[in-house]
Formats: sequence, C-alpha cells, structure tokens
Amino acid sequence: MTRPAVARIAIHWFRRDLRLSDNTALAAARRACDVVVPVFVFDPNVLGAPDIGAPRVAYLLDCLAQLRNRLAETGVSLIVRRGDPVSELVALARRIDADVVFANRDYGPYGRSRDAKVRKALAREKVEFSDYGDLLLVEPWECVKDDGHPYTVFTPFARRWRGIPKVAPERAVRLRSLGAAIEKIGDGAIPTLADLGLGSSIELPAGGERAARQRLSRFVANRLESYASSRDLPVLDGTSNLSADLKFGTISARQVFASVGEAMGPWLVDRDPRRPGGGTTRAEEERLTEMGPFVTELCWRDFYQAVLFHFPRVLRGPFRKTHAGLEWPPADPDLLRAWQEGRTGFPIIDAGMRQLRATGWMHNRLRMLTATFLTKTLLIDWRIGERFFMRHLVDGDHAANNGGWQWCASTGTDAAPYFRIFNPWLQSKKIDAGGGYIRRWVPELSDVPAPLVHEPARDPEVLARTGYPPPCIDYAEQRAAALELLGPGSRGRAASV
Ligand SMILES: Cc1cc2nc3c(=O)[nH]c(=O)nc-3n(C[C@H](O)[C@H](O)[C@H](O)COP(=O)(O)OP(=O)(O)OC[C@H]3O[C@@H](n4cnc5c(N)ncnc54)[C@H](O)[C@@H]3O)c2cc1C
Repeated sequence: MTRPAVARIAIHWFRRDLRLSDNTALAAARRACDVVVPVFVFDPNVLGAPDIGAPRVAYLLDCLAQLRNRLAETGVSLIVRRGDPVSELVALARRIDADVVFANRDYGPYGRSRDAKVRKALAREKVEFSDYGDLLLVEPWECVKDDGHPYTVFTPFARRWRGIPKVAPERAVRLRSLGAAIEKIGDGAIPTLADLGLGSSIELPAGGERAARQRLSRFVANRLESYASSRDLPVLDGTSNLSADLKFGTISARQVFASVGEAMGPWLVDRDPRRPGGGTTRAEEERLTEMGPFVTELCWRDFYQAVLFHFPRVLRGPFRKTHAGLEWPPADPDLLRAWQEGRTGFPIIDAGMRQLRATGWMHNRLRMLTATFLTKTLLIDWRIGERFFMRHLVDGDHAANNGGWQWCASTGTDAAPYFRIFNPWLQSKKIDAGGGYIRRWVPELSDVPAPLVHEPARDPEVLARTGYPPPCIDYAEQRAAALELLGPGSRGRAASV
C-alpha cells in the first residue's frame, strides 16, 4: 500500500464500497486532502461481460442513486462517468487538478489488472494511486500458512482467521465540495438499465447505505439469536439477507462483524464455537452456538476472496488439477431449460430456481441443492450454472459464486467429495419438512400436503390435477452416471445425503 503525502485534491473512486461510513479509502482521502471528489465509472468491460445480469445492475443503480442523494445532502456531487476507467480517471484528474486517486482494493483478476493500468497511467500524470484493504475482514496475504503459502482448505484457514484481530469500523466522513469547478465539468447522469442495454429487472429490495443498516439491525435484533437453528430451513428466512449489501459495500464486513460481536459479547466473537472454553456460562455457550456460525459465514466470504486472489485460474476452470481434463457431456438444452425455469419435476429444486428468478436471491441451502442437481443429476458443466447464477443473482460475486459452484461440483479447493450427491427428495424432507417453502414458490402445489408435496409424482392424479411436471430425469440412473463421471474410475463410495 502506498501512503499519500499530504495533498490538496483527491478523487475517491467508488467501486464496490458504495457508502460513506467505515469506508477505508474514503476516510484516508478525507484525512489526507482538503477536498475529496467522489467518482463512479461505469466500465464497459464489466457491463459487457457475458455474466452480467439486469437484477445485479439494477441494484447497483439504486445504491448509486442513494449514494448520490446522501452526498447531495451535504452539498457534494457524485461524478458519474461511462467509459474506460483508465482514460476517464486520467481525464478527470487533469480537469480538477487532482493529486491522488483513492480506491478500495479489488482482489479479482480483472480488477487487479485494471487497477495496475490505472496506477501506471496516473503516474505518467504525476498523480498518485492509493489503494486500501476494505472489502474483507482479513487481507488474503494476512491469512496464510506459516510457510507463507495460501490455504486451500477452509478449516485451517478459519482457525488462523479467527486469531487475526479485526479492525473496528469508523464513523461516516463528511466531504467538502469542490464547488463551481464541478458545475463546469458536469457531474453526469446515472444511466438507466435501458441506457445500458440491459432491458428491465424484477422488483428488488431497497439498496443503499440506510437500507443496509436497517437490514443489519433487524437481523441482529430478531434473527441472530436463532441463526444456527434456522439458517438451514429456507421457510424461516433465518439468515441476514445482507449478501447484496456486502457485495456492493453499502455496509462493510467490519460493521457487520462489530454489530454481531456486540450482540454476542465482544470476547465471544473470535472464538471457535466448536471449542467451548472454561469460564463461560451455559447461557453464553448457547448464544455462542447460535450466533457463532454467522461469523463463520463471514470467514467463508474472506476465504473465497483469498482463493480468487491466490488462484485466479479458478474463474477459468476447476481448482483441482485432477479435474482439469474432465469432459462434461454436452448440455441437454431441454434439461438445462427445465432447470433454469424451475420445471424439473423435483419440487425443492424448482422452488429454489423460481425464488432466484422472482427475487434475485436464493437461500444458501437451495443454492447448494440446485447447483448439485445441475452438475450431478443433470450432468451439466458447473460453469454453465455459475454463469446463470451470476446473471440472476443480485449478490452475484465472482469469488463466492465460483467457490460455491466448485464446491458443489467437487472440483474446488474445499469441495464436497465427488460421491456426495444430494438426493433432492431426502433433502426436501430434511430442510422443508412441512413443504411451506415449496408451496410458497411452486403455487401449483399450494394445496398438496406433505409428504406428497416433496414428490408429487408418487400420485399421478396430483400431477394431472395440478399440471406440475413429472421428474425430468431418472435420478438413480443419473447418480450412477455422476459417480462414473466424477469419481476415480467410478469406484467411489456412493452416499445419498
Ligand atoms: C452455488 C453457490 C453460489 C453462491 N453464489 C454466491 C454469490 O454469488 N454471492 C454471494 O454473496 N454468496 C454466494 N453464495 C454463498 C451464500 O449462498 C450466500 O452468501 C448467502 O445465501 C446469502 O444470504 P445471506 O446474506 O442471508 O447469508 P447469511 O447466512 O446471513 O451470511 C452472511 C454473509 O456471509 C457471506 N456468506 C455466507 N455464506 C457464504 C459462502 N458459502 N461463501 C461466501 N460467502 C458467504 C455472505 O456475504 C452473506 O451475506 C453461493 C453459494 C453457493 C452454494
């Protein structure tokens, strides 16, 4: 990290840190410079990527509008530009005579190479580029093995991660306007989805810093206490729903960690819930058991970003070298469409896929089931599903999405063993025993009671009456084929879970 000398005019380049509070680079800019000019650049390379989706961009536009409003309340304009970030930032730095550009770090391959180009181009103009760790609780190079090598398995990563002190959040900064100079150059409109050629989006929850804080407060007040017991039961909505906020940085991971820490008791937050120690009361242990797994999810988030940082090749193919030559059969277009549209005839899978399409979000358990179903029941290459998720998820994040898909396909760092093939009917009964989640998202089955709702094809009359399709494929046959495809010479021990 380069530390800027005291300077007069800074640009803060917002990327996925769309907030004023606890924003590391923004606070550093404010400390170092008299005036900070906030900027967002719509990058055609990102917007033109094959995995871009209208819901994610619609949410971004809302977050940006909220950010612009918040800045306007203090008389500061958010400058919006559309084009190559290198030329846009250089041009802007020239126009306003900026000394430094501040930004929070990006860990993916595209972001890193873009930032390297920006740094170089700015240096030619004698403008410094100063970047900061902000997205994560622990930087990827801080949580490594004793010999400096990156972890490729989550459990030891998490053990070390827990021992690394986490930075406390900072208060919001107040910026000073550059005044008339901005009026001269124009602040630029926030484009619409149509302007960006992305059609229209589904209705989404409110974006922006205030909405994110409210979501966090509601979660801590109402759901954190029972997180471990309810997080795997999709009908309960027991998770935080903060993934899109964390994706776009309308809240920081530090703010989330600190709020949870406060609720848990500060000394509890860094401990491993599986190692209850002396000196805690039974009630404290119970709280730890319920809330601790939430902290572990934040650790998974850091883990997958670290994997992407150390092994950017995961975006191109399997992490496991043993799977590098794996040839997936050509995707059957009818089966793929049935999966995408939630018409597979496996109600729990269809419920998950329909939740995704209707809301831009899917419960984690369902992400695991639908991804495993695509890869290990329909035998379709995980990269096809990975891209589909990115196009539909509001929280679509290359690191977490790739990590999740490679886990499900058994090709990743810390992946499920190849023989772990979720049985959709057993899983359905386990995570949605009463069938409430299925009935919410598959309305054709709204009057079908459990247990039939998990497998309506058991009663042909139900299929005839509801119009719900029969299973699109023979699960048992496909399971055997998956073991053949993914196992070492198909000799794996089959486990239906
Ligand atoms: C196939 C697959 C694809 C996924 N794609 C994404 C994605 O594109 N973006 C994304 O943010 N998460 C992804 N996840 C992880 C997880 O499903 C979501 O983070 C979670 O469902 C979001 O809901 P929540 O905010 O209520 O989660 P909570 O349970 O409240 O968790 C809190 C936060 O921890 C983080 N988190 C939780 N689980 C994971 C995980 N397994 N990996 C990484 N971070 C995690 C998220 O930031 C989340 O908001 C994926 C998982 C799978 C199996």
